[in-house]
Amino acid sequence: MDCLFCKIINGEIPSKKLYEDDLVYAFYDINPQAPVHFLVIPKAHIESAAAIFSENSAVISHIFEVIAALSKELALDDGFRVVSNAGKHGAQTVKHLHFHVLGGKQLSEQIC
Ligand code: 5GP
Ligand code: ZN
Repeated sequence: MDCLFCKIINGEIPSKKLYEDDLVYAFYDINPQAPVHFLVIPKAHIESAAAIFSENSAVISHIFEVIAALSKELALDDGFRVVSNAGKHGAQTVKHLHFHVLGGKQLSEQIC
């Protein structure tokens, strides 16, 4: 499948890996929008947050467990933001579900 994040998962495209297990892959964003900016993705190709169903949703709770663990490992003790852009209006550019985790500074109160 011609998917950038599937290629990152299988090592075809290099990335700065933070964490990996059977279900998920976490890596630093190539164009950071905050002092700490990483992405957590399911290894299964799910197109976006609009393609989560009871059949594939178990990985989502696991992703949030991984985010909580990484936030501690990276000392984001003062907080962080989790964002998942979906579809055209959401300005999603990579069509493989991903959760941005942003932190390391005071973020704006605005979310869009
Ligand atoms: P979106 O705009 O779809 O929500 O987010 C896609 C994110 O993927 C962007 O923040 C962009 O910087 C990041 N990205 C795009 N290509 C690459 C890449 O090759 N490597 C890494 N690490 N991040 C990428
Ligand atoms: Zn993919």
